[in-house]
Amino acid sequence: MKILVIGSGGCEHALVWKLAQSPKASKIFCAPGNAGTAQIAENINIAAEDILSLRDFALHNRIDLTVVGPEAPLVTGIVDEFESNGLKIFGPNKKASLIEGSKVFAKNIMKKYNIPTADFLTFTKEEEALRFIKEAGAPLVVKADGLAAGKGVIVCKTEDEAKKAVSKMLKEKEFGEAGSEIIIEERLEGEEVSVLCFTDGKTIVPMASAQDHKRVNDNDEGPNTGGMGAYSPAPVLTDDILKQAEREILRPTISGLEAEGHPYKGILYVGLMLTRNGPKVLEYNARFGDPETQCILPRMKTDLLEAIEKTINCQLSTLKLEWDPRPAVCVVLASGGYPGTYKKGYEIKGLEKARQLEEVIIFHAGTSEKDGKAVTSGGRVLGVVGIGETIRHAIDRSYLAIKLIHFENMHYRKDIGRKALKLK
Ligand code: AMP
Repeated sequence: MKILVIGSGGCEHALVWKLAQSPKASKIFCAPGNAGTAQIAENINIAAEDILSLRDFALHNRIDLTVVGPEAPLVTGIVDEFESNGLKIFGPNKKASLIEGSKVFAKNIMKKYNIPTADFLTFTKEEEALRFIKEAGAPLVVKADGLAAGKGVIVCKTEDEAKKAVSKMLKEKEFGEAGSEIIIEERLEGEEVSVLCFTDGKTIVPMASAQDHKRVNDNDEGPNTGGMGAYSPAPVLTDDILKQAEREILRPTISGLEAEGHPYKGILYVGLMLTRNGPKVLEYNARFGDPETQCILPRMKTDLLEAIEKTINCQLSTLKLEWDPRPAVCVVLASGGYPGTYKKGYEIKGLEKARQLEEVIIFHAGTSEKDGKAVTSGGRVLGVVGIGETIRHAIDRSYLAIKLIHFENMHYRKDIGRKALKLK
């Protein structure tokens, strides 16, 4: 089978890496890819958002299956465009992707179908939002409705912070159209965990759990990022809590979307807060999560291509996922300054040596090739995955590999996985 993977992040490198292990995969293209995907696939210089060029590429090259990594092309309708041209593609269509593309849409689905989530109100007018903040008091969470590359959520400890967040979105239009409607919601407390599932719109098959680290600095300090590290499994998600989440959250989400006329097929990612009153939804994603995928896929023994085909063909009731019981930890190496401004183009040294370590996998994210060398080209540069008999061992493998890698202004968290150790 000829496969096209769309995207250029660490998640897409992990997808290409896993798909390449399938006996049915004869050739893999990645658009646009990174220096890591270039080693196992053929990178194609087409942006992930350029849906029409991607469609033409898939038609001309007789691609048998396209797998979409990032959210932007899903939300703009790549699945609809490919399917109407007879091309097989993995992911939800434009309407179903609204579950990630519009937080207001997602919250309204949750409200209508009694899916536990933070209490919320929506606003388009600054004065009304400010008035509500004064009445409600802090803490509060302010969210832009549309896609904002993981930066559209501001957790506010004080009323002042909440007012600033509102002005940023509704007055200064920092997120453009994506912030023209906002949500203000209660701040939930508890442990966060991510549950990713395959779903064909009827059957839901959850993958191994994972826990992300969103804040840029150790001890969960500093601004939110796309994710600075993850580990799988997340011991905090017990079998009982997973069952509760399936019953109260996953099933009603999929059946609610179907009832609304938006049947959902693909990966449903649910970010949960495990509160004292049970699991509650923080967010939905319409795709594999980054960096969770980098530590989930190395643990998946099942052929990913088989799982994807069964999803597309509505045969998920026959899928049984098998897992390596050993934990995996992914530590993200970022450009200093991320998630704010940062410089690019620094040579990445030590990759070859680090790659030779056993129980270590290095996934590229913001990297590109220059004169045969890997250089930094994005905020999150690499995901270094360690695998071990215990979570402690997995953490040690990852940090051992990191010691060998260097680029100018490299920043990473030193505490990835520490929470899981406490729970052991
Ligand atoms: P989201 O993109 O909605 O998941 O938000 C990004 C991050 O903001 C989450 O992973 C949480 O750490 C935090 N967050 C979002 N909503 C809430 C909430 N209601 N209460 C507490 N933290 C939240």
